Amino acid sequence: MTDASTPTHVKSKLSPKSRVKSNNSLSKTGRHSFLLNTRKSIKQSLKLSPETKNIALDISKKKIEEDENLLRPKYLAQQLPSGPDKSHKNECNCKIAEIPYNLHTSYIISFNKIFISCRVAAGDFPSLLKFNIYAVLTFGEEPNHFPSLKGGYLKINYDGHSFGKTFVMASRFLNTQITKGNVLIHDDSGNGICCVIIMAYLIKETKISYSNMIELMGKIRPNFKPDSGQEKYIRSFEKLQT
Ligand SMILES: [Zn+2]
Repeated sequence: MTDASTPTHVKSKLSPKSRVKSNNSLSKTGRHSFLLNTRKSIKQSLKLSPETKNIALDISKKKIEEDENLLRPKYLAQQLPSGPDKSHKNECNCKIAEIPYNLHTSYIISFNKIFISCRVAAGDFPSLLKFNIYAVLTFGEEPNHFPSLKGGYLKINYDGHSFGKTFVMASRFLNTQITKGNVLIHDDSGNGICCVIIMAYLIKETKISYSNMIELMGKIRPNFKPDSGQEKYIRSFEKLQT
């Protein structure tokens, strides 16, 4: 779809001329009533002012562009990251680890796997290849260069407050990418927001329990200790399970 084609196409389809034509084609038969109803709904959309229509088209165009960026086959990180601080090196093994959620639930999202790590490990290209990482979800600062990912890359700047908005963005990315390949999720330490979001996501999508999930995370990210706010947020997804 090109930039120019969308408005012209919509404009011609919804021109006043075609509206008149549709009113003339009134009929009592079911098929025609159906068509009339269809046209009615199109006609209703014409009530938008030109300004509103342009805004709507613009939003739709932006959404398509966003989706295209999400599925961009190659991503090149632009900046070298700052090095990890000393305490990180002492506390972290800086390895990519699979989250084997499927051991504790009969639901799986995909046969592809979900991995978690700190930022250092996420920038280690040989590890990305070893685990056949297709897409990467970053919270905060970008990892080191990874010249070629087959799938998508998304960086979310977590503001430290709203889990909700972050969860929606992350879920959308995960849902798109996990059906196509292995996904790695990480933040700077590997013990923060990435753990909260992936726990909430897996509890929601696979009905795994909070206690099983925290046990799993304890094995692969032993330094992740959710505070009361984080625990409350993650547990809220367990309550939604039926
Ligand atoms: Zn590390």
